[in-house]
Amino acid sequence: MSRAHGLALSGIRKAFDGKVALDGVTLSVAPGEILALTGPSGAGKTTLCRIVAGLERPDAGAVRLGGEVVTDRPPGKRRVAFMFESYALYPHLDVRGNVLSPLRAPGSVLKRSDHGALVEEVLTLLEIAHLADRLPSALSGGQKQRAALARALVQEPSVLLLDEPISHLDAKLRHKLRAAIRRKLMSRSSPSIWATPDGLEALSVGDRVAVLDKGRIEQIGTPEDVWLRPASVTVAKLIGDPPMSVLAGALERSGDATVFVRAGMRLALPARVAAVARRSASGRVSLGLRADALSLTAAGAPGAADGEIYAHEPFGKHEIVTFSVVDGARIKIKARGGCPARIGDAAGLVCPEGALVLFDADTGRALPTATA
Ligand code: ATP
Repeated sequence: MSRAHGLALSGIRKAFDGKVALDGVTLSVAPGEILALTGPSGAGKTTLCRIVAGLERPDAGAVRLGGEVVTDRPPGKRRVAFMFESYALYPHLDVRGNVLSPLRAPGSVLKRSDHGALVEEVLTLLEIAHLADRLPSALSGGQKQRAALARALVQEPSVLLLDEPISHLDAKLRHKLRAAIRRKLMSRSSPSIWATPDGLEALSVGDRVAVLDKGRIEQIGTPEDVWLRPASVTVAKLIGDPPMSVLAGALERSGDATVFVRAGMRLALPARVAAVARRSASGRVSLGLRADALSLTAAGAPGAADGEIYAHEPFGKHEIVTFSVVDGARIKIKARGGCPARIGDAAGLVCPEGALVLFDADTGRALPTATA
């Protein structure tokens, strides 16, 4: 099978007992590319991976690998490496045996004399070389997860599917390994899909990020695209640290200014944002506020939205302040350099142009900018 074309899915639909799990998914992953697939629990990530692997048949649509349609091809004939969320380790084989198993399967393209070195290299990368002789029953959850990951990484597949590959590792190891694994994937010619519900993990590991919700692709783009230009409210609420706060409201003209209005909150929009706001046909918009671009000032300061400090989480290098506008809506602010106010204090919210993104209130889609 040629790998020149990578993976391509077109119009994939799948329902279980009449309930739609995937609703017309079209995407492609180039050879050597890492596509991070993110979305909330139940979005359809695992179902998509299972369809690529041939473990699930789509109700409609086509799967292409290396330019060939493989929709009806059984899993064993696709040469897919799939790391399952459930690990699926062989209980009677030790870690080394589990990792070797796909290399010894019929159709493996790697030379037998290379197997030992390959396995050692991947076990060392994932920091489980010392566990090579243990059975899965003698491993912790995170160690099992790394053994399953090693078994996927050791292969030379037509496509590599990693379903939540590092979700059960502690934060420090997760941080360390996601960089090491990304490096390893980048050195290969097969396309990879890395599924994770963690939007930040998706941004850090993907060459591109696909955001899936309720079986539909909300946006596919580079990490920068998805971060800076979320295509919908759904994307804005999934991606970010913390994610954007999104408030529904209406637009009003006040002299030359365009003002975002909701109960107890009036915010004159900066000129460039106001130009985007005027593209809203209905005048009803959802305003996305980026946590790391907002700041606080004194209550009643000109141009600021009034409210009070609802909560305050110190993280050392920054703080997350929850600001409550007068009608009780909450807005997260990522503040650096200390928050002068205390919980319950009145304060003003400063919203510069770069902090604001506008969405159509009816469709949830981002309003087009001048360059879009
Ligand atoms: P998670 O992050 O929780 O693993 P996910 O994004 O991987 O979620 P899927 O496991 O693909 O989501 O599930 C998508 C939808 O399809 C869910 O509503 C799920 O309940 C449903 N579903 C998946 N597999 C089956 C099945 N075999 N039978 C019935 N419903 C299913």
